[in-house]
Amino acid sequence: MRIVIIGGVAAGAKAAAKAKRVNPDLEIIVFQDEAEVAYSACGLPYVIGGTITDQNKLVIRTPEEFAKDGIRVETGRRVVALDAANRRMRVRNLQDQSEESIAYDRLIVATGALPIVPRVEGIDLDGVLTLRKIGDLARFKAIFDTLRPQKAVIVGAGYIGMELAEAFHELNIKTTLIEKFPRILPKFDPEMAQLVHDQLVEQDIELILGDGLSKLQGENGRVIAVVTESGKVIPADLVVIAIGVRPNTELAMAAGIALGKTGAIAVDSRMQTNIPGVFAAGDCAETIDRVSGQPTWVPLGDIANLQGRVAGENAAGGNAHFPGVFGTAIFKAFELNVAMTGLSEQAARAQGFEPVSVLLRRGDRARYYPGGREVTIKLIADRRDGRLLGAQVIGPGKADKMIDIAATALLGKLTCHDLENADLAYSPPFSPVLSPMIMAAGALS
Ligand code: FAD
Repeated sequence: MRIVIIGGVAAGAKAAAKAKRVNPDLEIIVFQDEAEVAYSACGLPYVIGGTITDQNKLVIRTPEEFAKDGIRVETGRRVVALDAANRRMRVRNLQDQSEESIAYDRLIVATGALPIVPRVEGIDLDGVLTLRKIGDLARFKAIFDTLRPQKAVIVGAGYIGMELAEAFHELNIKTTLIEKFPRILPKFDPEMAQLVHDQLVEQDIELILGDGLSKLQGENGRVIAVVTESGKVIPADLVVIAIGVRPNTELAMAAGIALGKTGAIAVDSRMQTNIPGVFAAGDCAETIDRVSGQPTWVPLGDIANLQGRVAGENAAGGNAHFPGVFGTAIFKAFELNVAMTGLSEQAARAQGFEPVSVLLRRGDRARYYPGGREVTIKLIADRRDGRLLGAQVIGPGKADKMIDIAATALLGKLTCHDLENADLAYSPPFSPVLSPMIMAAGALS
């Protein structure tokens, strides 16, 4: 039996490895249109900022390493058409443009997501970039080497925009962030997002909020300024469009694979699409929000890996299930660790819950032990039964640990009373005697 996988970064690479482990006799082919497979896109901002000096370190596994395990990885090959009825596809060799027809028994679509690029005037000028793939690094490098940019504008104040703002700051590039929404981080509640806002301002990042990109001005084919919808002109020799991504679904849609409410590929809990034998995983696929039970689309690397594993196992004949997500996420914004899981208070209200919340600021070690740092926690529960709905944690302290406690509490459908009595590890170098998360739950119960 032959399994073909389209796309080989996170979901596709994981699916291939898992399918082979489940059934070593399978023939597995991965078609990947880039030169690299199995790399961490999450590390890209840190290569740009110089924290990671060798971009090859982002590559987790090469085609040769896959080959040793009996998995055929074909890079520089794009699947350009799918014939689901006859289980065949047309694959283009991007070097010589030749095409061949390939048959499959089972298919995994792992085509990921694409950056959203507004078709405004000047968008094709040199110096206007997006960051999605490892190949994008060469374009950043070329601009840094030739132009030595002094002034950057990042359009979009999501987590990638902020990671890039920090990277540019490291490179002494004066940076402006433009956001169409009236505040940064719309998924966070306003009082939490404000902490990050203040940090950006403190770090000398200029913020222009409630104002979108109108057009880009250029000279000799190169960008020189950004014009906002309100008419502000911001000089820039480097512009990054970071307004979000959309699921890459054109190929699937054309083959009759159904999309869900969110616009990503609809799958069941086995990651199977509406076409038997065709699975989808990663940033191209929809999933379920485990708090609200509603369809959601959360394009994140850990989720792509988890889903790829399930799709790979099932394509190989197994019966694994993916239960959905809490949207647990974390990123670093200068001195702050910024994390969330589950629903914000505003999202909980919109979903018909009756949220109550608590906000508290605590140290992440015993008060007397050196090196402790603060975290601000917002914990949200349902007034009716005390069930936890979500958490946001921001601060220089251990937000990762706090948010993982909260995510695990959501997984167990715990109430704030349950969490208040959790037996968590304590010793002065690691935590206050009662974890800040326990204190937050106690304040709510
Ligand atoms: P993708 O990574 O998009 O890979 C899909 C691959 O399929 C691509 O190589 C694409 O070119 C290829 N492809 C598409 N169509 C075809 C075709 N027809 N034929 C052949 N090949 C095709 N997530 C986190 O959880 N934490 C983070 O800190 C984090 N940081 C990030 C930072 C940046 C700068 C970026 C860009 C992303 C970050 N992410 C992070 C998101 C994470 O990288 C993605 O969720 C993850 O890469 C999704 O993996 P995927 O395999 O589903 O899709």
